[in-house]
Amino acid sequence: MKQGKLIIISGPSGAGKTTIVQALLAQSPGAYFSVSATTRSMRTGEKDGVDYRFVSREQFQELIRTDGLLEWAEYVGNYYGTPAKPVLDKLEQGFDVILDIETKGAKQVMGKYPEAVSIFVCPPSFAELERRLRARGTNTEEDIRRRLTQGRSECKNAGMYTYLIVNDVQEKAAAEAAAILTAEKCKNKAHLSVLKGE
Ligand code: 5GP
Repeated sequence: MKQGKLIIISGPSGAGKTTIVQALLAQSPGAYFSVSATTRSMRTGEKDGVDYRFVSREQFQELIRTDGLLEWAEYVGNYYGTPAKPVLDKLEQGFDVILDIETKGAKQVMGKYPEAVSIFVCPPSFAELERRLRARGTNTEEDIRRRLTQGRSECKNAGMYTYLIVNDVQEKAAAEAAAILTAEKCKNKAHLSVLKGE
């Protein structure tokens, strides 16, 4: 059976990665969105096990110690990591898997899985990024400032990704993400097994 595609989405907090993730999920039946483990506290409206697995620092250390994470990183004072087993199981079953992770974690995944599809999502400007973060109304002033600083430094790593989407108009950004996935699925190598009758 053909393995699913591992898709990495990164970009500053507020760039609109969720739009891209939704577009990819809509296009790929059965695609799995990897639910990360995090030590950050739950925001209003978030659900444990759906948005994140909210864990203590001790539980997170245990996941690292038992090799339960595909990658992990510290971001704005909290730990975030991708539980390995569900991702590997889904890929094995032939489903696409989407990771919404920051750049340090993305680098680890690219090292382990060079065939992963990587997309960096950036805002049209840093002023717009700030406006979007404030409009969310869920972050403290201190958190917003840290996320903006972090966002600027993350954008410096945009060059290590295969694709870049400037998320100015949401519909256009979503269409670009869908086009990327379509192109990836049409890559010649992915179809050679069909020609061989496998
Ligand atoms: P937030 O706190 O806004 O939900 O996420 C902050 C940042 O953490 C985002 O850039 C998001 O992509 C990243 N992130 C979420 N889950 C993971 C993960 O499992 N690993 C890594 N390395 N970053 C993650």
